[in-house]
Amino acid sequence: MSNCFILLAAGKGKRFKSNNPKQFTNYINKPLFMHSVDKAIQSKLFKSIIIVSNIPIKNIKDKSIKVIKGGRERYQSSQKALNFLKNKKIKNVFIHDAARPNFSIKLLKKLNNNLRNNKAVIPFIKTKNSPKYRKGNRLQNLDRDKLIFTQTPQCFDYKTIYKLTKLNKRLVTDEASLFLNYKKKVKLIKGEENNFKITTKSDLEKLNIKSFYGIGFDIHRLIKNKKLYLGGLKIPFHSGLQGHSDGDVVLHAIIDGLLGAMRKMDIGTFYPSNKKRFKNIRSPNMLAPILKNLHKKGYFINNIDINLICERPKVSKYREKIIASLSNLLNVNKNQINLKGKTVEKLGLIGKEEAIACEAIVSLNYYA
Ligand code: ZN
Repeated sequence: MSNCFILLAAGKGKRFKSNNPKQFTNYINKPLFMHSVDKAIQSKLFKSIIIVSNIPIKNIKDKSIKVIKGGRERYQSSQKALNFLKNKKIKNVFIHDAARPNFSIKLLKKLNNNLRNNKAVIPFIKTKNSPKYRKGNRLQNLDRDKLIFTQTPQCFDYKTIYKLTKLNKRLVTDEASLFLNYKKKVKLIKGEENNFKITTKSDLEKLNIKSFYGIGFDIHRLIKNKKLYLGGLKIPFHSGLQGHSDGDVVLHAIIDGLLGAMRKMDIGTFYPSNKKRFKNIRSPNMLAPILKNLHKKGYFINNIDINLICERPKVSKYREKIIASLSNLLNVNKNQINLKGKTVEKLGLIGKEEAIACEAIVSLNYYA
C-alpha cells in the first residue's frame, strides 16, 4: 500500500518562548520532530515522508524523505503537502503534528489497519477533568463521558481529503474538523495519553521515561594473519583478533551491554560459537538484528561509554574514526558515544600485545 506520512513542522510555537521553534529543540537526544520521522521509518508503513517546515532541514539522507516549505497556518501547510502529492499515486496520508513526538508505532499500525474500511481514521482520548462551558457570564456543566479530544496522526484516503481541501474556504484547526464540516464519516480509535502535544517548555519534562543500564566485557587473543577490527573499523596492525567471528571486542562488549539493558541474556545466547552459520561472521552483522529488536521494543540508546584496553594500537590515533564508525552502525550521534583508551603497564597478555579487551556500559531509554 502506498502511504505517505506528512509531518507538519512549520508552526511558530508562540507559547513555547524560545528563538528555536519547539519542533527543532532537542528532546530525548534528538530534534523533537525527528522522533516522529524515525517512528514513521521504523514502522515500514510509508512509501514517502514529507516534512513541512519553514526552516531548512539539513542532513536528511533518506531518499524517501522530502522537505517542503509550509504556509502561515497549520491548515495551509497540510494543504501544501496534499498539493505536492498530486499525481504521486498515494493511497492514504497520515497527517501528524511534529509537536506530538510520543505516539507509539503500535498506534500507527492500528490506524493503518482501520484505513482498510474507512476513509478517515482519527485517534482520540477522553479527559479526567470536569469540563465546563463558559457562555458569557454563565458556566455550564458538560458531560465528561461525551467529550473527546482528537490527536494526530489523522489518517485519510488521499483522494477524499484532497477533494475536501479544494472545496473548503474556511480555516480549520485539523483535518478531522474538515471531514466533520462536510458531514463525512470519521472512524475514531483510542489514542494514547503519552501522545500529548508539546506546547510549553514544561511539557518537555512531562513524559515518564524509564532508563535501563547494561554492562559488557570482552577479550580476544591476537593472532597473526587476521585483520583487526575495532568498533567495525579495520585497523592496520601486526595481528587480528582470534574468534569464531571477526573478534571485534568493541562491538561484542557493546552488544552485551545492549542485551544487558534490555534484560535479554548475552551475546552467546544469540550467537553460539558452536554454530557453523556464524563462522567468520562480521560483528556489524551481529549487531544489526539486536538493534532492530531494540527499536521494535521501544528502546532508544541514550549513551555508551567504552574502555578499550590494549597496549597498541594507540586508541587516541583511531578514536575519532572508531566513534564515527560506531555512530554509523548504532545510528546515534557521535556525542552519545565516549571512547577511552587504557593501557595495562605492559602487564599480562594484553601488556605483551597478545590480547585486546574492551568494556562498555550503555544506557537505554524506554518509552512505549
Ligand atoms: Zn567477542
